[in-house]
Amino acid sequence: MQTAVTIDPAAMLREAGLRVTDSRIAVLTALANNPHAGADALFVRVQQVLPNTSRQAVYNVLNDITDAGLARRIEPAGQPGLFELRVGDNHHHIVCKTCGAIADVDCVTGHAPCLTPNETQGFDLSEAEVTFWGVCANCKTAALPNTSIVPA
Ligand SMILES: [Zn+2]
Ligand SMILES: [Zn+2]
Repeated sequence: MQTAVTIDPAAMLREAGLRVTDSRIAVLTALANNPHAGADALFVRVQQVLPNTSRQAVYNVLNDITDAGLARRIEPAGQPGLFELRVGDNHHHIVCKTCGAIADVDCVTGHAPCLTPNETQGFDLSEAEVTFWGVCANCKTAALPNTSIVPA
């Protein structure tokens, strides 16, 4: 099932002051449909639309749109960099320890930065990045039949 794209990639690029190119539009569209995707997964998606695209071209576009603030790069421990278009709301992520599935969670107390340390060590804080780790619903279900319950 294909999720409908609700973004206007060309307008996003123009607003960010970036030149509108086929590869940038393809990457933004792929990201809109696959939030929290890694560069390689996005390359596969983009290739379906632009068969002549190169891995390097996709990497370059990801750098450009991340620098321009259109995309955000997250790096949960042990995973390659993942990208998403949901930027600027300081939301957090829940990562499944079993399959690596990622879900968005809203900021813990509503506005950024939601975690204020008692001592900032002289830093000006702009963002708090929180990753929650757990087991997703799918993996929990999958694990159930393996649990042998011996009646007492
Ligand atoms: Zn899982
Ligand atoms: Zn997210």
